[in-house]
Amino acid sequence: MLIQCSLIIQNLVPRPAKANSQSLRSYLLTKKVNGKYYVFVLNSMYPNGIHYDIAMLENIYYKFIKEKKMGLEFREPRQMLLIVADDKEMLHSFYHQLIDIINGKNVVIGKRHLLNTASSNNYNMVCSTKPLEFVAINRFDNSLLNMKHLGKLVLENCDLPTIPVEIGSLPIRYLSISGSKLPASQFSQDTFWNWLSMDTVCGTLLTLKMDSVGLKSLPFEILFLKNLQTLSAAKNMLTYLPHFIAEMKKLDCLFVGDNMLSYYPDSICCRIFQKVDISNNPFQLPESLVFEHLVKYNDVFTSLKRPDDDVIVKPLSHLSFYSLINNCVPFKRQDIPRSLWLYFDVVGRCMLCKRLLLPDYCEINHRFGLPTAINLTKDQRTTRLSRQYLLCHISHKFCVRR
Ligand SMILES: [Zn+2]
Repeated sequence: MLIQCSLIIQNLVPRPAKANSQSLRSYLLTKKVNGKYYVFVLNSMYPNGIHYDIAMLENIYYKFIKEKKMGLEFREPRQMLLIVADDKEMLHSFYHQLIDIINGKNVVIGKRHLLNTASSNNYNMVCSTKPLEFVAINRFDNSLLNMKHLGKLVLENCDLPTIPVEIGSLPIRYLSISGSKLPASQFSQDTFWNWLSMDTVCGTLLTLKMDSVGLKSLPFEILFLKNLQTLSAAKNMLTYLPHFIAEMKKLDCLFVGDNMLSYYPDSICCRIFQKVDISNNPFQLPESLVFEHLVKYNDVFTSLKRPDDDVIVKPLSHLSFYSLINNCVPFKRQDIPRSLWLYFDVVGRCMLCKRLLLPDYCEINHRFGLPTAINLTKDQRTTRLSRQYLLCHISHKFCVRR
């Protein structure tokens, strides 16, 4: 449940604070994530919210609850939340829900009441007719489609069964879906990224954050974001980074820590990034160099190859695919055959002549080194890792640098 209140957050260590005595208009809500209960605080100091684990709740001061006041003392972080609620009844219910949670009851947290808090969903829109930022509490709100000047959209820790394609028509510069639950059904997954193909957002989006959303591969639509500078896809299940990210010329911050990467694309090492985080990845090439996404590609397309396994005349599908990438034409993925989606996982450029290549025309090799970045975050043990590169190889002839 959700209550509106004035809230003071006090640090109890290292010194009982007087510095943290600022009272802020806040929203407090109970949340259940992966079976654990939290008090979630949202205010101007924490526009993206902050979670307090209810298991860490040490004391509830409820003596003055009739005067709409309550205190929550947490062990970790060592902080006290001093609440002055707007509504006495709501504070009562909030208190009782906390007690039920502490007593180990399986509390179902209703979201119904959030429906009439459309305006309270966002701090910055309350007093503004042209909101520039929107922070959703735990679900998508269609009202934001009317915010024609929206520059920052935070959809973190939300249920996101879909993102309407119209979002792509807003001039969003910053978008985060970190921690959100993406759709489970195949159809919804297939259409989920369509908003990235819209002209407006393709030009305006500078930062895209999608940490902890269970990604197994990066959606190829990010390729259309020609001005994207920061891409964060940490804490996912990525086993590889597609070579096509080298096509994103403005990209200079890449956060892919806590994934399952076995190599780094050599193609993005020819320029220096501002920040790269590759920590907590295995960076171990599979034995016999079998990569799952390449196997998938080969399973679909090997049967289409000539018996002599030599491709001299390129199929039209390859040529048109190269053309799509070279011209950076945004499209919806449903507009091309599903099998061609696999092309994006494997396409890259020849290290020497820079031609676009599908695996049919190249050798895949590795050399050792590190990503090139001014601020590189990596595991201490990582002194070098495999950087994968492609080299033209047609009719047993190797690439000649042009
Ligand atoms: Zn070449």
